[in-house]
Amino acid sequence: MEFDLVIVGAATTGSYFARRMAERGHKVLVIDKLPEEKEGAKYDIFHIAKADFERFGLPLPEKGDDFAFEFTGTAAHSAFGRYPKETTGTTIGMHMHAYTLRMNRWAMEAGAVYRYGASFVDFLYEDNRITGIRYQTDIGEETVGARIVADCSGIPSVARTKLPDGYGVENFKITPTDMFYVTLHYVKYFDEKDYVKKTRTYPFYKTWEAPEADPQGAILGVGANLSFDYGEKIYEEFKAAVPLPKHELKYIERGVTPYRRPPYSFVADGFIVMGDAACLSKPHAGEGVTSSMVQVDIAVDVIDKALRKADYLTRESLWSINKRYIEVQGKIFASMLATLIGAVSTNAVENDFFFKHDVIFSKKSFESMDAGKPLTFTTGEMIGMVGKMLLGIVTGKLRIKTIRALLDSMKKGDEVTALYSAFPETVEGFEEWSKKADQHWLRVGSMADHLKTL
Ligand SMILES: Cc1cc2nc3c(=O)[nH]c(=O)nc-3n(C[C@H](O)[C@H](O)[C@H](O)COP(=O)(O)OP(=O)(O)OC[C@H]3O[C@@H](n4cnc5c(N)ncnc54)[C@H](O)[C@@H]3O)c2cc1C
Repeated sequence: MEFDLVIVGAATTGSYFARRMAERGHKVLVIDKLPEEKEGAKYDIFHIAKADFERFGLPLPEKGDDFAFEFTGTAAHSAFGRYPKETTGTTIGMHMHAYTLRMNRWAMEAGAVYRYGASFVDFLYEDNRITGIRYQTDIGEETVGARIVADCSGIPSVARTKLPDGYGVENFKITPTDMFYVTLHYVKYFDEKDYVKKTRTYPFYKTWEAPEADPQGAILGVGANLSFDYGEKIYEEFKAAVPLPKHELKYIERGVTPYRRPPYSFVADGFIVMGDAACLSKPHAGEGVTSSMVQVDIAVDVIDKALRKADYLTRESLWSINKRYIEVQGKIFASMLATLIGAVSTNAVENDFFFKHDVIFSKKSFESMDAGKPLTFTTGEMIGMVGKMLLGIVTGKLRIKTIRALLDSMKKGDEVTALYSAFPETVEGFEEWSKKADQHWLRVGSMADHLKTL
């Protein structure tokens, strides 16, 4: 084989994987359909927790290049902009295009080969098993052999969706109802006292106010499940309920992130799917840059060993990637997704009540979500919350149907945790597990469908 590993997609996930595999001495090729000058240019500013640079050993951005800002602290507010729940983490904002190029160079320094302007066409097969890819460049179609192909192509999932039915990884398309529509309003504030030093979020509207590279600027963001138009409608409701500092709009950026359950298995013979193509973004925030790296780290460990042991990487030899990822992050995200889908029927008054009384929306909950940890409540906390909810019903602040929907969504979240905890250790048992999982997700439904019924 010409390469041990071919990666389709040279953005953050593909480059992180490329670096980690190349520094272990494997021959890595990364292709991307974009030319170098457009890499990672889908939107300008993104941010990740400062702690993640150390956790994943990432290269640091530099002022005057990819660095945009750094701030400490986030405060989540109720639907009426009250009862802030503060968390204390430090966040670094970066320019996506420049940072992606930094990651490209970082992977190249370890020996990975990059081909820009090279678009995946299809797989090569021998004996019905993947053995490489065909890709298109300006000068024509080329082929390359590899012991494993990784799909890191983001939402289009160009390689995964080309897999034949039954190959071992689901080949579904990420459809418009499976996406989270993010609109970033880049604004300029007029009054110095309003300049943004940390992020304020408003979970009821899925809106936020974040710093921008320009200290007088801010990003007013909104994420929505149905469409950009729906997001704008919610943004208007947000502005009416929570007065914002006086500002002028500079420009708007839009983009989408996946919002659906990941494929049940990430691996098949000679194949793995990662990043947005595997729907690994955080269900509560839509962020996906470092949540993808959790799976990459596990994959690197397993694939590195498998490549040293055998010529060809079978589904069985890669299987532990599924199990280990689910244990570390997958089951938490799956449960969060199931819980959030059911919990959307709360109205603004109820949301304000929950914030006021620390029911679900407590400082502890936001700290857990920020850290990617499960939302767990002690018996004492549960009893306290039930008492407060009863108070809410008696005083007319909460509707019984909301409580019912919340309890139901928490139950569904728990069921999904139990289901994913029982993910099979080996390929045997997977078919049966998948059937059970299908039934669970059918009951949970999709966020878009739930919103349409409200
Ligand atoms: C507006 C917005 C703001 C966001 N902010 C944040 C944030 O602050 N923090 C955070 O963590 N996440 C954020 N996210 C989510 C984050 O952008 C994604 O989770 C992350 O970029 C996914 O990275 P990826 O490498 O998996 O995929 P992508 O970044 O989508 O990269 C896929 C790559 O594959 C290439 N490709 C596609 N088709 C082909 C083909 N046929 N052949 C070869 N190559 C191909 C593409 O050109 C691209 O370079 C945001 C998303 C949006 C929309």
